[in-house]
Amino acid sequence: MARIVMKFGGTSVANLERIQNVARHVKREVDAGHEVAVVVSAMAGVTNQLVAWCKEAMPQFDQKEYDTVVASGEQVTSGLLAIALQALGVKARSFQGWQIPLRTDSTHGSARIAGIEGEGLISDLKSGTVATIAGFQGVAPTGRIATLGRGGSDTSAVAIAAGVKADRCDIYTDVDGVYTTDPRIVPQARRLEKVAFEEMLEMASLGAKVLQVRSVELAMVHNVRVFVRSSFDAPDAPQIGSNGLPPGTLICSEEEIVEKQVVTGIAYSKDEAQVTLRGVQDKPGVAASVFGPLAAANINVDMIVQNISDDGTTTDLTFTVPVADYERAMAVLSQSKADIGYAKLDGATDVVKVSVVGIGMRSHAGVAAKAFAALAGKGINIRVIATSEIKISVLIDAAHTELAVRTLHSIYGLDHA
Ligand code: ADP
Ligand code: ASP
Ligand code: MG
Repeated sequence: MARIVMKFGGTSVANLERIQNVARHVKREVDAGHEVAVVVSAMAGVTNQLVAWCKEAMPQFDQKEYDTVVASGEQVTSGLLAIALQALGVKARSFQGWQIPLRTDSTHGSARIAGIEGEGLISDLKSGTVATIAGFQGVAPTGRIATLGRGGSDTSAVAIAAGVKADRCDIYTDVDGVYTTDPRIVPQARRLEKVAFEEMLEMASLGAKVLQVRSVELAMVHNVRVFVRSSFDAPDAPQIGSNGLPPGTLICSEEEIVEKQVVTGIAYSKDEAQVTLRGVQDKPGVAASVFGPLAAANINVDMIVQNISDDGTTTDLTFTVPVADYERAMAVLSQSKADIGYAKLDGATDVVKVSVVGIGMRSHAGVAAKAFAALAGKGINIRVIATSEIKISVLIDAAHTELAVRTLHSIYGLDHA
């Protein structure tokens, strides 16, 4: 007997028929003698609609009321799943974030989990009741509902798995695992059997939205084994494949991965914008005068390049900011023009960050050179480069996204046969 947390995303609970299919997956685990908690998302498209209504009601809406509105989608699916389970003769009870309670900080709209009191849930699970839990939501210190940021049900599931000391956290989605890149844009992408926490964290942060970044952070910190698999597999299909697991991807510690690939995957993100300051004074304190006001405005800066000036007087400074903060960043820099002392402010939002990720890069030279040569061969100009021990990112024109991702995917031997 094991204690497992199962999480089902929006497409997996998109309508009543799919919720009934989810109930059959859950029943299978209950019949196998396991204690089960299930975390659900809102039906596909519902959260987007709720967000759109908030914006329509008032563009600069109150984040606390936004949370009240957008958390409602998960309330519906948690109740419907409990009913669908009861219809199959399985004991089930729904829980909202505040009923667990899953405590968060007070950053409404993208709250962080502060803690979970798992004892109540554990005693329900021990008594043989399946808990169907609304993902994406918790309770802020004021007692109000808080949501965990888009895609946050993954984080709810991992947090609950850690809180009830589950043996496994199974994330059911609309693909049968984590792929070498987004299978929607590269049909040659391959499913990965195992991915190290650290690699998955890079992949998710760099754009692979199959898991919310915070869910991977939490899994890494609490050492929760996460298994990503498809909810569209037949609920009664054999559960054990040749490797002892059904088709899917295990996210686990690096020690469990025997064969370390140099490159594990390619991620891309259109969530960044480029900002360039031309003719900046090349003297001490300039970087502080640029990035200080941006930090004060709560704008995160990611990739940064600064040239050495030819004549020792002026240079160009380029960096990226989240595309959602682009207008604000440009306004902040315009206001600080006199302070910083630059000639011209430029920017672009039609850019994409493409990244090559792999833990094997630590011990291999030449990975970056290969990427640069391949992109050059396709006539793709690189605007900005950023690297870490296990990733290389390049900022390029958004028009070249698919070509760049496919080219990199192919040169590192990731295409399936
Ligand atoms: P859910 O609603 O179940 O949470 P998401 O849409 O959030 O599902 O995440 C699944 C999607 O993530 C897939 O349909 C796929 O298009 C996308 N995705 C992006 N990168 C990857 C990747 N490397 N591997 C698998 N899926 C990926
Ligand atoms: N329903 C929320 C969203 O669409 C949370 C989730 O699905 O994980 O972002
Ligand atoms: Mg998701």
